[in-house]
Amino acid sequence: MVFKQRSEPLELVLNRFLKARMDFSEDEQKHFWTITKGYEGEVRSDIWLLGLTDNWLILHDLLLEYSQSIFQIDTLIIAYEKVYLLDIKNFEGDYVVKENKWYNPAGVTQKNPLHQLERCETLLEKLLHQLGFKLTIDSYLIFNNPEFHLYIPSIEPAIIFPTQLNRFLKKLNSRPAKLDKKYLQLAKQLEDLHIIESPYPKLPPYTFEKVKKGMICCNCNTFLTDETLICKNCGCVEEVEAAVLRSVKEFILLFPDMIITVDSIYNWCGGLKSKKVIRRILSRNFILIGKARASHYVEQ
Ligand SMILES: [Zn+2]
Repeated sequence: MVFKQRSEPLELVLNRFLKARMDFSEDEQKHFWTITKGYEGEVRSDIWLLGLTDNWLILHDLLLEYSQSIFQIDTLIIAYEKVYLLDIKNFEGDYVVKENKWYNPAGVTQKNPLHQLERCETLLEKLLHQLGFKLTIDSYLIFNNPEFHLYIPSIEPAIIFPTQLNRFLKKLNSRPAKLDKKYLQLAKQLEDLHIIESPYPKLPPYTFEKVKKGMICCNCNTFLTDETLICKNCGCVEEVEAAVLRSVKEFILLFPDMIITVDSIYNWCGGLKSKKVIRRILSRNFILIGKARASHYVEQ
């Protein structure tokens, strides 16, 4: 059973909001692409793991710390006297390993994912020990993009290729064993230790003044052009209240320190909807604080 679900990383959500409203530098664009691809691969892997029987505790997306070293785990599967550590890679194209160095399809050297996996395993082993568990750790690099190929001079048992995914799952399912309470306790402990990092320091620098205002289509991420809120790009139609509330949510997430007023939301929406409409929607969905010019809204 899935003990801890994965949600879309806030960093990715915020980057998507910003991408529509400002120009990204080449590096920012690259980073956005990397985290988008990474999440895509993780979601694909989560769906794949639904094929596991119920004799497992699955924890997705853990950020843990041992002795001031932070390490991230894409998926941890707790089994009887064993844990499986999965690092999901959504690499695409032909990669080459030569003399222990990894090259991407463009021939540029990459961080060796096996080294990252090893580091993660070492830290996890120590953390489990500290929590009073002595379990075998099986670590795997899961390559789940069907367009991936790796030219590697020797067989590397820690690597699972797209064509091996089914067999890997079958192998796991062939050794079922009921987990008792202590494993559930471990899952709970690890979930409690999960660190939530603020994504804000990692975002491209932006201010309310600098980003482009307006309402964005919920389907294709382009700007809506008039008050009908019908997207000229993809034809998508969204109900006014839902569209405004989505814009308010975007505003709150991007500018957590700014206050919600009729004026600020009117500006944020690029004047597409009148202040009267915005006031009505805010009053219905938020709590009004203060009077006259000092009035603003807070979340219910
Ligand atoms: Zn659209």
